[in-house]
Amino acid sequence: MEPQLRRPTRRACERCGRVERWDDDAATWLVAETDGEKRVGSPYCIHEWDINGRFAPFEEPA
Ligand SMILES: [Zn+2]
Repeated sequence: MEPQLRRPTRRACERCGRVERWDDDAATWLVAETDGEKRVGSPYCIHEWDINGRFAPFEEPA
């Protein structure tokens, strides 16, 4: 089985609550909406994404 490329499709800032989703077409992070409301957080925040340190781009070989 080929190694599966794993990447997060959604990330949230632990400081300001900003939520972003990965857009494949744009190949960038876009602000996500929750309940029809954009979760932009704070523009002055140094975002600390909840995926930091836990994300591995590839599966570990078994
Ligand atoms: Zn933030």
